[in-house]
Amino acid sequence: MPKETWVTGRGVRERRGFTLIELLVVVSVIGLLVGILMPSLLHARLLARRTACQGNLWALGRAALVYQMKWAGDVPVCWQNVDLQRPRPWKSWRTNLLAYTPRYNAFNCPGAADSGSLGAVFHSADEVRSQELMGTVNAGSYGVMYQYALPGYRVVNCAGLIARGHPMWSCAFSALPGASWTDPAASVYAADAAITREPVTYPTRGYKHYGTSVIMPPSAEEYFDSEVTRRFADRHCGTNCLFVDGHVTSYETAELDGMTAGAPDCVWDTQ
Ligand SMILES: [Zn+2]
Repeated sequence: MPKETWVTGRGVRERRGFTLIELLVVVSVIGLLVGILMPSLLHARLLARRTACQGNLWALGRAALVYQMKWAGDVPVCWQNVDLQRPRPWKSWRTNLLAYTPRYNAFNCPGAADSGSLGAVFHSADEVRSQELMGTVNAGSYGVMYQYALPGYRVVNCAGLIARGHPMWSCAFSALPGASWTDPAASVYAADAAITREPVTYPTRGYKHYGTSVIMPPSAEEYFDSEVTRRFADRHCGTNCLFVDGHVTSYETAELDGMTAGAPDCVWDTQ
């Protein structure tokens, strides 16, 4: 170790470098500090993503309100009709909101990783409008509540025509507020969504990067049993939810998954 001598008023002293034990103590302290600070730094990053995600949903909520004004209170609730045999395929809820959204990126949650392919995040407005199955059903970060696309609800296509029957493939468009949404301020319209590709139970953390355009309510029979289900995603310490009236709230994903249809605190149930 380097040594030097120096003179003080009291005499000559010898100055040594750090001993091995001193170095180990310093390294241990630094390691301890990193161990203490890292979780809070990671948590802060998650919270920043949560806030940015809330901004996205707020923008989509603005778009949905403008859309409601144009279409007599209807908002898009399902995905695109991919039956290209039809003369004029209907648009997905995202394509319809895109016209009133400041940027296509509002459909991407900042907590979603980009795998570089469809099914992760959108890379352009054209991808949002894509008529490809994977470009409409299993892409992006947010899904609308499938609960609102029940056969009994009125559904309206982009020409303002009322259609009846199950909207999944035939119409996939709008529902009638008031009839389906008895309490817009307590009804989730869209939220962080993820597709699961095998039977799973909560948590869905392993699936947080895959997108889907709709969310199946936990009350659906196939929610826990199906090989492919569409669920609330957990990208930033929980799920952000956009309500029909335009406000955004964060929930723990487990809290949403654990809600019971018909219970007073159930925010996705409209019955
Ligand atoms: Zn998010």
